[in-house]
Amino acid sequence: MSAATLATPNTDNEPMTVVGGGLVGSLLALYLARHGHTVQVFERRPDPRSSESLEGRSINLALSDRGWRALQGIGVEEAVREVAIPLYRRVMHDQRGQLTMQPYGHAEQAIYSVSRAGLNKRLLDLVDQEPRVEVLFNQQCRRVDLRSRTLEMFDAAAGNSQVHTYRHLFGTDGAYSSVRAAMQKTDRFNYSQQYLNYGYKELTIAAGPNNSWAIEKNALHIWPRGQYMMIALPNLDGSFNCTLFFPYEGPNSFETLLTPAQVRGFFEEVFPDAVPLMPELEQEFFENPTSSLVTVRCYPWSVADEVLLLGDASHAIVPFYGQGMNAGFEDCTILQELMTRHGDNWLTIFQEFQQQRKPNADAMADLAVYNFEEMRDRVADPRFLLQKKIESK
Ligand code: FAD
Repeated sequence: MSAATLATPNTDNEPMTVVGGGLVGSLLALYLARHGHTVQVFERRPDPRSSESLEGRSINLALSDRGWRALQGIGVEEAVREVAIPLYRRVMHDQRGQLTMQPYGHAEQAIYSVSRAGLNKRLLDLVDQEPRVEVLFNQQCRRVDLRSRTLEMFDAAAGNSQVHTYRHLFGTDGAYSSVRAAMQKTDRFNYSQQYLNYGYKELTIAAGPNNSWAIEKNALHIWPRGQYMMIALPNLDGSFNCTLFFPYEGPNSFETLLTPAQVRGFFEEVFPDAVPLMPELEQEFFENPTSSLVTVRCYPWSVADEVLLLGDASHAIVPFYGQGMNAGFEDCTILQELMTRHGDNWLTIFQEFQQQRKPNADAMADLAVYNFEEMRDRVADPRFLLQKKIESK
């Protein structure tokens, strides 16, 4: 049964305030509304569905069970499944272009490739259908005053700031959260951020003739090379989003690939089967940003019954386990269960939420770092492949 039918409409009509209308914020707004709350969402960027939005490349994410459960809870699972591509296995490409495969599970078990922008737009479309939710775009939260329970929002379109009050505030504004920044100044708030010495760059494998897929469509592709790797996830239009995870410094690193000829030479040597499929390699390499990879841990995630952090704002993890968004979506599932159980007792909801979620988030953060080594190195080890063969029997 979906949350829409489970929820008992709430009598607490105080509006809920959500800062950050990304993946987790928009899903959260839906869950809060289905529980009978009015919700105001402040999002820094323009509406991604508008012409104002300078949407760049489409980036894909792997959606797995935790994520599906959360989408099912608001009845949107089927709609998302229509635009998701199942990945039944990972396919490793060695340096001679030879392939080995490892299934993710039995028969129909899969993770799914979905477009980040597409999913966000889909959730915002659903939000639009909720009369209780108002989303305000171009609204950057610049300051949160926890004492006076106010937010200073900068309106990028109008070029001025306005102060808003809140009663219950949800921080879903990502790894560099402004809501968390205010909490960091409070007594006994623990916080750490840890960067990898690796950055990542998005590249593209072009679609084949008639939007066909030039390499296997229903797989997550990995080019494991020990100290670095490239991965690729399929798009519906036949192309693949590739991500190169590469050291910032050292012998093979971003600092050694400084000219188009160096990039081409390096890729031809280490990713020979991929290069012919990447017609815009050099251009993309120099035009697309090199982005960093951070793990954020903090605690507590709440302030009394007034503020709660969810998603990357409370637990940003590196992407190698494909669980950041999935864990943020699962936050919404757990919050919805607690709202059902505790009604308007927000203090209990927030306390139980953070106690329940923090150990899971920490475990996920550790596994995500561990899995980087597995993906870039161990999956290419013949002993590992043999072991996997034995496991899957
Ligand atoms: P975000 O997606 O960061 O959204 C935050 C929102 O808040 C944004 O819309 C932003 O504009 C807005 N905002 C920020 N600051 C403010 C402010 N001051 N005021 C108002 N609004 C603000 N996860 C997976 O589950 N599977 C994957 O395969 C996967 N792959 C990944 C690959 C890469 C390369 C990376 C970097 C991450 C990947 N992740 C993946 C993780 C996933 O992207 C994040 O966990 C997820 O986006 C978190 O969602 P969020 O809504 O909490 O934060």
